[in-house]
Amino acid sequence: VIGNWKMNGCLERNASLLAELRSMSCADRVDVVVCPPFPFISQAKDVLSGSAVSVGAQNLSSFKDGAYTGEVSGSMLLDLGCSWVIVGHSERRSVFGETDHVVATKVALALELGLKPILCVGETLAQREAGEAEAVVQAQLDGVLAVVGAALASDIVVAYEPVWAIGTGRTATPDQAEVMHAFIRAHLERSGVAAQKVKILYGGSVTAANASLLFVKPDIDGALVGGASLVAESFSLICAAAAAI
Ligand code: PEP
Repeated sequence: VIGNWKMNGCLERNASLLAELRSMSCADRVDVVVCPPFPFISQAKDVLSGSAVSVGAQNLSSFKDGAYTGEVSGSMLLDLGCSWVIVGHSERRSVFGETDHVVATKVALALELGLKPILCVGETLAQREAGEAEAVVQAQLDGVLAVVGAALASDIVVAYEPVWAIGTGRTATPDQAEVMHAFIRAHLERSGVAAQKVKILYGGSVTAANASLLFVKPDIDGALVGGASLVAESFSLICAAAAAI
């Protein structure tokens, strides 16, 4: 279960949220990761040190280092103690113009450095209504597979996040999500990836109320959680739901 704080938080508020997450009792039975904004990564590492909760980042540069003002490299994230990084979130794709090629470059760089990439894929509402959802997701996966290769791709965590469900309160139904997750796993398998090893997370308005219904589905291995990850009780309940299953 991965919490994406997006561009939220401040030192004081983070301190109490992180302290509550630190004491979550289920974190030894489920992989739990929080991804704060870059400036708060060290704070999260400090407060969570010695706990079972890991820290990740929300993005990394597609460049290794050098004259790229404003960028944050993967090796800097490693230096700060991050072990995970979200790549290709739909907000990065739509607001910051990240193409499939940029996303693939970032995934490859993360893998090369030993950071675990969480690759976000997902279709817009218009694409779903046009019957293109699977083709869109397949193209997003193929863009990464072409650069990374099937052998390394089993180390990627895939997050299926239908764009129409992110931050909207409109979750894909568990059946809709399962159909896409099964499609993703089958496509990875067809592409020569050890797909049974790949964790496929669902993201899009996951809450404490709907998490269990999603997690019981065979191809839904966890969740990428935005809004609900900012509230300790909600995030803890989602983690507990995953641990229970
Ligand atoms: C996200 O940001 O990845 C996300 C899924 O957000 P939310 O849970 O708020 O829909």
